[in-house]
Amino acid sequence: MLPLVKTYIAPREEMMPAIEKILYSGYIATGEAVEQFEREFGAFIANDKVVALNSGTAALHIALALLDVGPGDEVISTAMTAEPTNTAILNAGGKVVWADVDVRTGLLDSKSVRSKITERTKAIMLVHYAGMVCDMDAFNQISQEFHIPIIEDTAHALGSRYRGQPVGSNSRFTCYSFQAIKHMTTVDGGAISFQKEADLEEAKRLRWFGLDKKVSRLENDIKRAGYKYAMNNVNATIGSVQLRHMAEVVGRHIDNGKYYDRALRDIPGVTLIPYYENTEPSYWLYTLKVKDREDFCKMMEENGIQASQLHHRSDLHSVFAESRCDLPALDCFYEEFVHIPCGWWIGEEERERIVELIKRGW
Ligand SMILES: *Cc1c(COP(=O)(O)O)cnc(C)c1O
Repeated sequence: MLPLVKTYIAPREEMMPAIEKILYSGYIATGEAVEQFEREFGAFIANDKVVALNSGTAALHIALALLDVGPGDEVISTAMTAEPTNTAILNAGGKVVWADVDVRTGLLDSKSVRSKITERTKAIMLVHYAGMVCDMDAFNQISQEFHIPIIEDTAHALGSRYRGQPVGSNSRFTCYSFQAIKHMTTVDGGAISFQKEADLEEAKRLRWFGLDKKVSRLENDIKRAGYKYAMNNVNATIGSVQLRHMAEVVGRHIDNGKYYDRALRDIPGVTLIPYYENTEPSYWLYTLKVKDREDFCKMMEENGIQASQLHHRSDLHSVFAESRCDLPALDCFYEEFVHIPCGWWIGEEERERIVELIKRGW
């Protein structure tokens, strides 16, 4: 079965010596290897204000903590995402306020977000779902107009672009995940990038109990309780090796995605997803809308190709019961959308076969 997601690990000859070296170096905790990974990752996303963490969820939590989100505060978010986007808001103590999606894309609808803003809105959480980029022109406008910061959950969107620049420095906070099935994995890990130096400095303390690495342990004074969220040298070393291959790996996703954008046009029962002005997706998954989705998935799977929705909408979990509201566009999108394999493991032959199958009908 051709899977929707697959873990990429750089070639053994490169990876294993690097892991062996760091494991026996005598320093596996957070140190120089993490700093090096931060510099390299910063170069990849064109933002040097990067803090490496032990998960993408930690990145989201740190962004919310830096905004002091707590009881009584609202964060406008989407249900069209993986669960950690929103459990992080609850863990910070905030309330999730759902906005509806744009029925054409499944990404947050800026008009719906606008209508959900109240005096208690502390942040807007944007998810570049499946690697498609939200309507940043509209959201930047909202952020400026209402003075509400944006947190970008870019767990699916490494290598995607806005106005020609990699996603990563457009908003006050950008949160990456290096979990097993994302574009890039460090086994587990994450990173957060910033626009402000002050956020960077505070995040470095928050990821390490609140301690300041620049001051000796005996002279340290914790002013705010932090977390155990730092990346360690082993995961960072893996990340540095992985990064050498990311231009190519992400490039393969993008090449396959653009191929589908061309080849799946004008097929009865298929609706392609438009991308917003000034955005370029990195196609973590390829997303499309199909009629009779169940039959479509069955046909694909009978031919050895995984096709499904992958994630469950988040608003139906009991833990978000307090936030429940009507989301008619999401209902509509959720009926029809599906993902097909699009990643680095899909070659020209496979993608042509996938298109032929879809053209034949289901
Ligand atoms: C994977 C993922 C996360 C969380 O990342 P972890 O590294 O697994 O903590 C957050 N948001 C989205 C949309 C994700 O897919």
